[in-house]
Formats: sequence, C-alpha cells, structure tokens
Amino acid sequence: MSKKGFDLFDLVKKVLFTDFVKGLTVTLGYNISKSITMRYPDEEKWVPYRRFRGMHTLNRDENGRELCVACELCAKACPTGCITVIPMEDNSGRGISDRVAKVWTVNVVRCLFCGYCEDACPTRALRLGREYELACTDFSCTLKSREELLVPQPVPESIPGGYVVKSKFERTPQGIKVVPELSKYKKRSI
Ligand code: SF4
Ligand code: SF4
Repeated sequence: MSKKGFDLFDLVKKVLFTDFVKGLTVTLGYNISKSITMRYPDEEKWVPYRRFRGMHTLNRDENGRELCVACELCAKACPTGCITVIPMEDNSGRGISDRVAKVWTVNVVRCLFCGYCEDACPTRALRLGREYELACTDFSCTLKSREELLVPQPVPESIPGGYVVKSKFERTPQGIKVVPELSKYKKRSI
C-alpha cells in the first residue's frame, strides 16, 4: 500500500476553509433568493401542468351529450381493474353512439394514475384531469361515479398550468374544497 504524498493544494484548501466557504455560499444564496413557500390552502393553490394525471373526468360534446359510448376499452386497458363500465342504449336515434354508460365508476384507491385508460378511450370522453385533492374520511367516497365525473373540474383542459393562483374555499356536496381563482393568477412557477 503506497503512502499518500504531500499535497500542497489540499493544504491550501484546508487553511483557507475553501470547502466551508463554498457551502456557506450555497446557504447564503438560498437566504437571499425569493421564497417559494406556497400559502396553501388559505391564500394560494398550485395549478398543475397539462400533463398532470389527477382525478378522472368524463367529457361531453359541444351539445352537452356524453362522449362516452360505453365501449369498455378503458376498463380492459386498466392494469388494476379499477374501472367498471355497464353499458345501456339511450334510444335517442344516434345509431352506434346510442350506447351510453349506465354505470361508470373508478376506484381511486386502486388507481395508479398511469393514464392507460385515457389512451385507450376512442372518443376522448375520458381524461385524467388536474384535480389532486383526493383525500376523504369515508371509504365510500373513493369510488367515483359517472355523475360525479361528468361535473367539469375547476381547471379546464385549455389552461396551461404550472403556476400558483389565488385560492378560495367552496362548499360542495363532498365537503369544503379549495378552488383556484384562475383569473387571479400570480404566474409564480414552481
Ligand atoms: S389511470 Fe391507470 S390504474 Fe387508473 S383507472 Fe386509468 S388505467 Fe386504471
Ligand atoms: S370512457 Fe372511453 S374507453 Fe371508457 S367506456 Fe367510455 S368511450 Fe369507452
């Protein structure tokens, strides 16, 4: 085993505390930089990017008709089997698209938010939205129904996201929700 030789450079570094000064520079840099602390939920809320995969949402067309034709492809594509679709005919004379879902549920406890279901959907009826406040105290609320998912989410698909906005509290049948005020955004990216 060879003995380590004398290293002048190492000695100078030790005498001048260069590593210590380097570390202190990083700390001081954070001290004088702008804080990124978010005052959630009292004042602010983060609006996720479009690519975010949150709570499922079922869409309608411009005439208000459900886009879901109950083809069950989403349920087949789901790796955890957490989607249940039971189709029915709505007899509205729309031909093949008469098929609508009588039951469409997703069990969010088993969901991986992988997005396979939205990729499989041929009509773009199913999207993973940007709703991320999914915690609840009752086990039954983890099963989301078609009726709940047809209600538009507070953040529409057209909003790019990736910034913080002002928040407000809203009373809903599911309890109090923190809703983003999209018109009052601060454009503070985090
Ligand atoms: S996101 Fe993935 S795990 Fe969740 S319902 Fe869709 S396919 Fe299933
Ligand atoms: S959400 Fe899409 S994939 Fe799933 S049943 Fe409806 S149309 Fe088919």
